[in-house]
Amino acid sequence: MCICKSSKQTKKVLLIFPRTQGSQVFNDAGFPFPLLGLTQLAAAFPERYKFTLIDESVRPVSGAEDADLVCITTMTATANRAYELGDLYLQRGLTVIIGGAHATVLPDEAAQHATSVVIGEAENVISELVDDLEAGTLKPRYKASEYTSLSTLSPPRVDLLSWRHRLFLASLQTTRGCPNHCDFCSVPQVFGRRLRQKSIETIKRELQTAKKYRSRYMFVVDDNFTANRASARELMAVFKFYGMPWMGFSTLATAEDPLFLRELRDSGCISLFIGFESLLQPGAFVKNKKYADPAAVAGAVKTIHAAGIGIQGSFIFGFDHDTVAVFASVVQFIQENEIEVLNMNILTPFPGTKLYDRFEAEGRLIHHDWSQYDMNHVVFTPTGITAEELMQGYLWTIKYLASPTIILKRLSWRRPHYTYFLTANFAMHRAHTRMANSRWNKEVQTQIEAKGGCLI
Ligand code: SF4
Repeated sequence: MCICKSSKQTKKVLLIFPRTQGSQVFNDAGFPFPLLGLTQLAAAFPERYKFTLIDESVRPVSGAEDADLVCITTMTATANRAYELGDLYLQRGLTVIIGGAHATVLPDEAAQHATSVVIGEAENVISELVDDLEAGTLKPRYKASEYTSLSTLSPPRVDLLSWRHRLFLASLQTTRGCPNHCDFCSVPQVFGRRLRQKSIETIKRELQTAKKYRSRYMFVVDDNFTANRASARELMAVFKFYGMPWMGFSTLATAEDPLFLRELRDSGCISLFIGFESLLQPGAFVKNKKYADPAAVAGAVKTIHAAGIGIQGSFIFGFDHDTVAVFASVVQFIQENEIEVLNMNILTPFPGTKLYDRFEAEGRLIHHDWSQYDMNHVVFTPTGITAEELMQGYLWTIKYLASPTIILKRLSWRRPHYTYFLTANFAMHRAHTRMANSRWNKEVQTQIEAKGGCLI
């Protein structure tokens, strides 16, 4: 009788998405965003490995979980919590791997709280890491020599998520990488500048899974889904076949192609996520000079609306040209142009970006408490406005826009998908109002009003 044991071992892996500590908004979502990084990571491990995934915005870890390996992902805003958890499990004698965007740009920092750090995309190093784990020879760092080829990637392990992640929204990534170089963004550094694409077959399998779990909508997380029209059209045909309403990132330039807009709508696109950033400020930082004029921006918005597609607008406050007048002018733009869903942010210099390096060189970083690098705290000294005015102007803006009367004025019931947009707005109403009230400073609000800001 053979008594040899297979050298292949089954391991229990605990995957953790840490809770953001500085932000209430992130943690308040009734239906949290369906995580892609950790589910995609799980798909890269051997099938014999067993996983438990904890998203701390759904439930906190107990610290007593049984695992052979703990994998913790980091964004800058979650880094402190990730380190706290890393220390906790290390003290228990468990093996801890920390990866993700923040660990990629600051691996020395992450290494103090982990057995090993994964720098960059993890998929290409998992097989080496598994071999080392099973041999008891883990290295302190793992870094792939090249970016992951998405064409051979397995679909993410969506089955590891909770029903709350899957019920409202499914998330889909069809590409990684971004050829642009916005100085406040770390995507090109983490994922590279070359666009890499998943295979259509894998995307079909992911859509079948989303249908199986009866997810109502699909969010395409690609940084600019419409950048390559030919591949977007190929994917849109697949989306149309599966009949799943979807939304994704785009730019105002999409408005220049009415035929493409109609194709987007016919494929089930209900809204485009567009970064307006500071386009509304004359002479401001603009990626496309064509849209330096607010009237041109409003015209493009009108064209997208006319095609039956809504807009999720992202706005950032705190650029060097911003004064206290910026808050009211952005609010006015949003209301007049009936932007359906809003993503309001404070400029945040994330480590690994050119903006961070510039602010550090200029001595403008106020602190390095990563938990407040969450786009709703001020962590740097602005120029045209004080830090407290930026904070209070931002709070005024989100509170004003979250008011039920203002939401109802903004949303036109005649537009397609009115119920979806109404639900999305009221889902954020409580979190935004609560955050504004908890940090409201009447004295600074009065001071901004006296300077002519925050008035409509
Ligand atoms: S902000 Fe968007 S377009 Fe700019 S570099 Fe980042 S991902 Fe690319």
